[in-house]
Amino acid sequence: MSLPAQSDVAVIGGGIIGASTALFLARQGVSVTLCEKGRIGGEQSSRNWGWCRSMGRDAREIPLAVESLRLWQQMDALTGGQTGFVACGIVNLGASDRELAAQQTWLEAARRHQIATRELAAADIAALVPGSPRRWAGAVLTPGDGRAEPAAATEAIAAAAVRHGATVLTGCAVRGLDTVGGRVAGVITERGRLAAASVVLAGGAWSRLLCGNHGLDLPQLSVLGSVLRTAPLSGLPEISVGGPDFAFRKRRDGGYTVARRGASVTDITPDSFRLFGDFAPALIHDWRELRLRLGRRFITEWRIPRRFALDATTPFERMRVLDPAPVGRLLDAGRRNLVRAFPGFADMVVAETWAGLMDVTPDAVPVIGPAAVLPGLFLATGFSGHGFGIGPGAGRLMADLITGHAPLVDPAPFRLGRFRRSAALVRAG
Ligand SMILES: Cc1cc2nc3c(=O)[nH]c(=O)nc-3n(C[C@H](O)[C@H](O)[C@H](O)COP(=O)(O)OP(=O)(O)OC[C@H]3O[C@@H](n4cnc5c(N)ncnc54)[C@H](O)[C@@H]3O)c2cc1C
Repeated sequence: MSLPAQSDVAVIGGGIIGASTALFLARQGVSVTLCEKGRIGGEQSSRNWGWCRSMGRDAREIPLAVESLRLWQQMDALTGGQTGFVACGIVNLGASDRELAAQQTWLEAARRHQIATRELAAADIAALVPGSPRRWAGAVLTPGDGRAEPAAATEAIAAAAVRHGATVLTGCAVRGLDTVGGRVAGVITERGRLAAASVVLAGGAWSRLLCGNHGLDLPQLSVLGSVLRTAPLSGLPEISVGGPDFAFRKRRDGGYTVARRGASVTDITPDSFRLFGDFAPALIHDWRELRLRLGRRFITEWRIPRRFALDATTPFERMRVLDPAPVGRLLDAGRRNLVRAFPGFADMVVAETWAGLMDVTPDAVPVIGPAAVLPGLFLATGFSGHGFGIGPGAGRLMADLITGHAPLVDPAPFRLGRFRRSAALVRAG
């Protein structure tokens, strides 16, 4: 596809959020062009575990998670593709009363939203997920939660957007925003200018860099998650299982996606210092989970210019697909913990390992809505490691906000203005 001169809406980023936004806009008859610097779903959206859950979410996200699960049920029909969604249920196993107590806040919120979820005693756990010699203190089961196939789903959604009239361009980096008279007038891409009255930034881990070049200080850091998949295995649970220090879900190819739960790596970068004040509370709260590391990424990010001209190659073209190395010791630990809990995995053959950089906000809730200081710019970013499951709902909500339709859910919890530093947002000329 070639770059059109004009569209009603330009979407930056072809992950699940950008693709879903383009699909729901196109279905509402809006002309939309999506620009992806690499390939569709090449970054987080194809690298995640594939869990589509309401369970354990921040109360502010629950309505969006509920609506997204409804949409996931229709996604195959809606996209004419194979997103691989199955409402297989998710169970969180607790090894101690302390772990179970930590789920209470969510259980109370879930009841308010009529989510069918229940606590399980040890005997029920053995019946639901047999094969574990470990004594579990209890568990929480949400039967309506599910899984989808990350590698297929975003492509299916983007292809459906095209069938509904959207233009989807890959290998087409957006260098920056085109602004006229204090509002967004379109985007400058590596292939030229695209005029658009509204621009949606769904750039995942890159959103902060693009905003920063226009003087918008978006508080966002990246956290590294490592994952493996096994060759096909039989006789093991269909339901997705989260343990205290492992997680797995069955894949459409008969294998399992496995990870060390509760352990991600946070590289110390120049932004760690710039944003220290914003993220300090999260760091204190989750210090066990967020393992700090000082390594090569500090230098790599130090070298990326924070301000750059739009008439020459930008950092977005220099890195088409973020493909960080997985952390082997965390994957080994995840495997060991899993086999200890479910010995049926002892013979697993690791078919592939990979990692992804998650774009995290200070309160781990995304920003979905207008960037008030720059009329015409909308943000759908900062999904904080759990945006795949709410991707369809977030795209629909973003489309509603642009077209003025009744929003799928109340967008207020997702506004950018909730962050302290957003008050200091300035607009570049
Ligand atoms: C290891 C791991 C496990 C996870 N597990 C789960 C899970 O089980 N369930 C769940 O709900 N979520 C999970 N997540 C989170 C989920 O994957 C993300 O929240 C979600 O995919 C975010 O989608 P996105 O479209 O915002 O970002 P991305 O998928 O990262 O897409 C952003 C896209 O924007 C493009 N882009 C950026 N800048 C530009 C530019 N200037 N021009 C053009 N293109 C640009 C990038 O190339 C990229 O393709 C996980 C994430 C990881 C890494």
